[in-house]
Amino acid sequence: MSALPLIDRYGREISYIRLSVTDRCDFRCQYCMPMNMRFLPKRDILSLDELLQVARVFTTLGVKKVRITGGEPLVRKNIVWLCEQIAALDGVREVAITSNGSQLVKLAKELAAAGVRRVNISLDSLVPARFRELTRTGDLQQVLNGVDAALAAGFPGGVKLNTVMMRGFNEDELPTLAKFALDNGMDISFIEEMPLGDIGRWRGDTYYSATEAMPQLQQHFDLTASDYDSGGPARYWQVAGRQNRIGFITPHSHNFCSTCNRVRITATGELYPCLGQNDASDLKPALRGEDSSRETSDEALRQLIMQVMQIKPKGHDFDVYAPDAKVIRFMSSTGG
Ligand code: SAM
Ligand code: SF4
Repeated sequence: MSALPLIDRYGREISYIRLSVTDRCDFRCQYCMPMNMRFLPKRDILSLDELLQVARVFTTLGVKKVRITGGEPLVRKNIVWLCEQIAALDGVREVAITSNGSQLVKLAKELAAAGVRRVNISLDSLVPARFRELTRTGDLQQVLNGVDAALAAGFPGGVKLNTVMMRGFNEDELPTLAKFALDNGMDISFIEEMPLGDIGRWRGDTYYSATEAMPQLQQHFDLTASDYDSGGPARYWQVAGRQNRIGFITPHSHNFCSTCNRVRITATGELYPCLGQNDASDLKPALRGEDSSRETSDEALRQLIMQVMQIKPKGHDFDVYAPDAKVIRFMSSTGG
């Protein structure tokens, strides 16, 4: 079947899905989830075959890029198999992964061999005690070894770092993190904290914007706006004398919704047309229909997906200073 483009009410073409394969994680990052996070019952989580079916049906609708995320996607059993199957689907140009890096020593080589093109690794500090405080359970050295393993595995689209900027935790370390990335041949994106889920504290205290970070980085690097587009929300700056770039993901200070090309599927099969809004549609009935053949189930999914495009909102309206989070889902459940 030839791929049909998914176009929403605002004329945006959706060519990119972020597929969460688990809500579970071995870390408990301060900005992402509370320490006593309650995970979803296993029976509600899509099987690998169901995840593959969702990806396949999206590719028949023109999706070309699939990012595997979570929770921590690499704690899901047989994740390499899923990546390999998705990379082999007709129409898929790129499979990417977002990971906390903890399992990369074990899995980086296999993931590259399975056809994963890019890996984004989250790294918020290079100071061991601070890294532990931020992730609550993470071990910095294990993640740094994971970064080395990913670099050695030779992902064709490269390895990138992601850092959530947090006042009082790591805002003084942004130039050091940027230098670490550039010295090791990686791009780095600095992310503004988003008000997703109740983490038991007010986010206004820790929110640190790109507008504050930019002059701080300019003291160390000569930055020129770049038109490089990785297909995601980051806007990049070329660093004089370096091959790599510094990016910002700025849902607050510079909204990027007008060019949004993606939707997200949770590990339980909820299709969210926008990270920052609550509307979603459950794909499970179409996937798990009692007596439906594969063709019927594919067609039911396709119809549902096309309907959801019609409710994709114009944009998010994140307010990090609001007393309560309007979006009660954690980033780990929707998939970052
Ligand atoms: N566990 C993997 C990881 O940490 O890279 C993948 C999932 S994680 C939810 C995806 C990305 O979302 C990470 O880069 C993480 O730092 C970011 N993230 C999580 N919660 C966030 C929040 N409230 N605001 C901004 N970024 C957040
Ligand atoms: Fe886990 Fe990623 Fe959330 Fe950190 S940001 S708790 S690593 S899902």
